[in-house]
Amino acid sequence: MKTHNFSAGPSILPQEVIRQASKAIMNINNLDLSILEISHRSKDFVDIIDEARELTKKILKIPQEYEVLFLQGGASLQFYMSALNLLETGGIGGYIDTGTWSTKAIKEANKVGKVHVIASSRDEGYKYLPKNIKLDKNIDYLHFTSNNTIYGTQFKSFSELYNLAQSRNAKLICDMSSDIFSKVFDISQFDLIYAGAQKNLGPAGATLIIIKKEILKNNNALPTYLNYSTHIEKESMFNTPPVFSIYVAMLTLRWIQENGGLASIEKKNKNKANAMYDEIDRNPLFSGYTENTDRSIMNATFKLNNHKLESEFKKLCHESRISGIYGHRSIGGYRASMYNALEIDSVNKLIEIMQIIEKIS
Ligand SMILES: *Cc1c(COP(=O)(O)O)cnc(C)c1O
Repeated sequence: MKTHNFSAGPSILPQEVIRQASKAIMNINNLDLSILEISHRSKDFVDIIDEARELTKKILKIPQEYEVLFLQGGASLQFYMSALNLLETGGIGGYIDTGTWSTKAIKEANKVGKVHVIASSRDEGYKYLPKNIKLDKNIDYLHFTSNNTIYGTQFKSFSELYNLAQSRNAKLICDMSSDIFSKVFDISQFDLIYAGAQKNLGPAGATLIIIKKEILKNNNALPTYLNYSTHIEKESMFNTPPVFSIYVAMLTLRWIQENGGLASIEKKNKNKANAMYDEIDRNPLFSGYTENTDRSIMNATFKLNNHKLESEFKKLCHESRISGIYGHRSIGGYRASMYNALEIDSVNKLIEIMQIIEKIS
């Protein structure tokens, strides 16, 4: 029996994808070579990255005027790189602060230029998402985190932030690391989206970037590697790309496509999240961390009300091969990450354990 993997990241991938990837480690395309030892300039790999790019465009319905890139450095490099490329001289970057990742993005942008924190939910431990946000000055762009992996909040709709950016003629930038490919959304509202691969897409190493071409100015003063234009021109092959991570991402994208695309993935994710939150709300031993309306369908955060039951809960989880449910060190408690590849059976198993501890306590 497989371990029920609730890890927040790197996280669960479809079994089928792992099987195919392990085959390719031994022998890719019957070349008697491993995916780990072929040139990134070979036709075999160029076909792989082309397919990954095309599948991304197809699954997310990306319009013509956008480019899709696979770079390195994770979302963490994008905190700086996005500001470096999009902040005008003397301009202001606008940020919505909804947790650790937003805070890090703000910190990096501060090294590039002026930053304005438009709204923050820090006052209540990031348990909620700011609403009815007012913007009283001009900004170059508005940056936000769509899903707050650590706290377990998620923007259900992007319209308010899109309209806010529009009202100031500002670009919209999003760190979508932990919920891209989890649901249907309108990509045309965005100018730049970035996401580390290791939540819903593949192993760590690749970072997906979707960027509207027209927003880039030709700025040759930027460090070559940190200029989006470099990577657009070189089709993500300016230097050696993270070959294996891109290969596995391509397999995962095929899996998404073969499983009905984002509409059916979204339905499956909502079913899992509903089951999980219903139990958190029903079971008197547990309480959720976030405000109900802002709950993430990817990461459910909760705690045991009585600390004394923690070791028993841990033992029960261990016996049932439930793994990766501990909360981030900054908030403690539990976090059930329910990424695309997690089956409802795993959620049901965790619910069963929550009910068992309720009965015996
Ligand atoms: C995991 C995560 C990150 C960090 O990504 P790295 O690829 O490790 O830099 C940033 N933002 C969000 C929302 C995340 O979930």
